[in-house]
Amino acid sequence: METLKSYVYGTWYEAPSGFRSLVNPSTGEEIARASSEGVEFGKVVEHARGVGGPALRAMTFGERAGLLKGMSKVLREHRDELLELSRINGGTTRGDGSFDVDGAGGTLAYYGSLGRSLGDRTMLVEDDGVQLAKTEGFWGRHGLAPRHGVAVHVNAFNFPAWGFAEKAACSILGGVPLVTKPATATAMVAARIVELIVEAGIVPEGAIQLVCGGTGDLLDRLGAQDLFAFTGSADTAIELRDRQNLRATNTRVNVEADSLNAAVLAPGADPATAELFLRDVVREMTQKSGQKCTAVRRILVPVDAIDRIQDALVERLGAVVPGDPAADGVTMGPVATAQQLEDCERGVAELQATARIVHGAGKRIDGTGAPAGRGFFFPPTLLRAADARSAAAVHEREVFGPVATLLPYDGSAGEAAEVVALGGGTLVTSVYGDDMDWLARFTPECAPYTGRIYIGSEGSAEVAPGSGIALPQTLHGGPGRAGGGEELAGLVGVRPYLQRVALQGARGVVDTLLDPAGPES
Ligand code: NAP
Repeated sequence: METLKSYVYGTWYEAPSGFRSLVNPSTGEEIARASSEGVEFGKVVEHARGVGGPALRAMTFGERAGLLKGMSKVLREHRDELLELSRINGGTTRGDGSFDVDGAGGTLAYYGSLGRSLGDRTMLVEDDGVQLAKTEGFWGRHGLAPRHGVAVHVNAFNFPAWGFAEKAACSILGGVPLVTKPATATAMVAARIVELIVEAGIVPEGAIQLVCGGTGDLLDRLGAQDLFAFTGSADTAIELRDRQNLRATNTRVNVEADSLNAAVLAPGADPATAELFLRDVVREMTQKSGQKCTAVRRILVPVDAIDRIQDALVERLGAVVPGDPAADGVTMGPVATAQQLEDCERGVAELQATARIVHGAGKRIDGTGAPAGRGFFFPPTLLRAADARSAAAVHEREVFGPVATLLPYDGSAGEAAEVVALGGGTLVTSVYGDDMDWLARFTPECAPYTGRIYIGSEGSAEVAPGSGIALPQTLHGGPGRAGGGEELAGLVGVRPYLQRVALQGARGVVDTLLDPAGPES
């Protein structure tokens, strides 16, 4: 059985004790163990601030972009190995594993290209500047410089590769060294990725450290120049973001948490749009066995169409084959851990307080190709509430598995937006319709409650990739219970790693300091 090591202060560290087990969720078999006991977190922070940070800051944005291209290439070269690890440790089908691994490589490559376009600068320029006195002798302009701290990245279990990459890309491009901590249960993929990057000598020493196991007193050591980026459940986020030192020093904190994402079918949708809606909902319920922060949890359908839509969804969900991804014909793997399985069962029971099951058992099943009684298999489960507004549990309880609830609404844009808002803030809302007036009423009412609105229409039906993909060009994050964070969206995701500074002085001096090679550079 493999023992995962941490990569800290320039060395691979193996803990002597305090292990947690990692298991294959298709069989329940223990496959690895991890512990960070004995890691000296003071040294971790010093190594990042004293070694990694200066090395990264000695490079320009363009040079750091080159590191990201190198990281992306390593992922591509070891894709098959990483997909296999993802299957063994995460229970993913090949498609689901590639969603994570290829998503990671693509995000690194995107930030590599973005960084190249920034050129050989050590500070970013934000604006053209403004005259602040009678002449250009007093001018103001804003720039952004890499902060002198360390970024601690704590990730959720469901995207071990992408979770590492989307944060690392912004951190490295921003010139800030990072400590990445994958969720222990599925840490094998992230641990191997860091090992590959270190072996290939792509990043300077101290730029990336890896902690497999708990964070010990690492978070207590963060201060004014540091950043803490967390992805996981809202409950853990509440506990972690409230630390005295984080508040006292204004450590930058970014949280990506739970999300009760909604898919909304508008009335009178074109047949191609309605088909996209059905395809997306089934995919977003079952991809990665529903363990996506962007998965659809609430399905809003006009009351006069809901029976027909329910029948169509039930038929498609009935064609999903849950089982061991190593077996032929399996289209959906298990959930990742015994704890997730338990949580799904408990969650569906809670949803049943305000909704009834119309498809699926809502309980563990045996999986195709897996021994009876073994593995954490949970079937696609569709519920339906009689009344959208009073279905409180549906708007409050995230069941992190292949589970969603149909909610009838009166067909108006106003009621659809109000029901979406009951989720308390989401990462993504998908809406499917072709009536521009309806969409124009819905969009501004829904926008304050969600980080992204994915609009399915006849015009996008052929190429739309599904609402669950967090593309690096656009925002990932959402208000309220989704954490209030902002990641990706090009430079938006890099900005937290940079300090904005206003330079004031004679225009020539300010411009030369911010933009030494001139505006064409
Ligand atoms: P979790 O239990 O909150 O754990 C998330 C991470 O926090 C793990 O790395 C975990 O480490 C760590 N952690 C837990 N307690 C900690 C503590 N006291 N100190 C330091 N670290 C601590 O969440 P999860 O079960 O992994 O992920 C599922 C949740 O994540 C879902 O609610 C999902 O919606 C959310 N999620 C959100 C996004 C997003 O972008 N918004 C993306 C993915 C997932 P250990 O594993 O070692 O305990």
